Amino acid sequence: MWSVQDIRERLRALGARPKHELRVLRLWAQAQPQDSGRRALDSFMPTALRDALPQLSQDLAALATLREQHPAEDGSARLLVGLRDGQTVESVLLPRDGLCVSSQVGCAVGCVFCMTGREGLVRQVGSAEIVAQVALARSLRPVKKVVFMGMGEPSHNLDQVMEAIDLLGTVGNIGHKNLVFSTVGDERVFERLPQGLVKPALALSLHTTRADLRAQLLPRAPRWDPQDLVEAGERYARATGYPIQYQWTLIEGVNDSDEEIEGIVRLLKGKYALMNMIPYNAVPDLPYARPSWERAAAIARTLHQRGVLTKLRQSAGQDVDGGCGQLRAREVMQRVK
Ligand code: SF4
Repeated sequence: MWSVQDIRERLRALGARPKHELRVLRLWAQAQPQDSGRRALDSFMPTALRDALPQLSQDLAALATLREQHPAEDGSARLLVGLRDGQTVESVLLPRDGLCVSSQVGCAVGCVFCMTGREGLVRQVGSAEIVAQVALARSLRPVKKVVFMGMGEPSHNLDQVMEAIDLLGTVGNIGHKNLVFSTVGDERVFERLPQGLVKPALALSLHTTRADLRAQLLPRAPRWDPQDLVEAGERYARATGYPIQYQWTLIEGVNDSDEEIEGIVRLLKGKYALMNMIPYNAVPDLPYARPSWERAAAIARTLHQRGVLTKLRQSAGQDVDGGCGQLRAREVMQRVK
């Protein structure tokens, strides 16, 4: 695992002063070559640092390399990203200059409908590897928004994710509300995020309004009563001025009932919130089905009419054989064959 702090220490060992450190980190996060505008800075840069820049650039580029790219018709593209130790994660280029990044290899939460959850946690993704996913994506197209909704649960890797968010929100040229921390909910998130220099927007995976069903669907997520989770989210939304995005993977016969619609209205009406409904993307080995688009649209319409701001979304890249984790699962299978 490689962190931004490791890079800072390497730069300092080469004699970098704070302005040099910031410059190297900024050019990296913005996917600009380290020698851009070089003449202006050369004379002020320690010789050891200047001489080390070509190797350093190569090492930074090696933190996240493109293994596969799967474009979809909606303008998104799933990327299989290789890390330096041979592990892989997925990033997704989203329409309108967004990028979804992974914060862990695998995930310990074990959501029953998710391919990544089946693998368990393999290892943490370092803050430098998160920024490297952004730099890699920027070498392909502009990135103005970064969502932490790929493989992994960001709150289980909080220090590294916060370090990446700080860098992206300062020298990385991403607006703070365009950094979206997505979580199943963890006490530490509500303690740490308000203290950060860069305060990201928050997305909470709700999926059901019933505590018992949530415990079944998200077996190793903290046992929040959905009402308490929404109240904690509301405090963060009021403190930051950004609405909470609630994520709801809509699964036929599981969480698409009229009872759930009533529950959502009860929890979210009048809240500073946006409900993102994403019809489930069926995975061959898992016993869950996607509801019809008509049913999903009817639910979204009802919620909207009853005072809950709701968006019905297609999950990005679904026509390229990919709910989150499928590209990696396929690649791992090929490796062990
Ligand atoms: Fe982990 Fe997210 Fe998959 Fe749940 S949906 S297992 S939190 S990666």
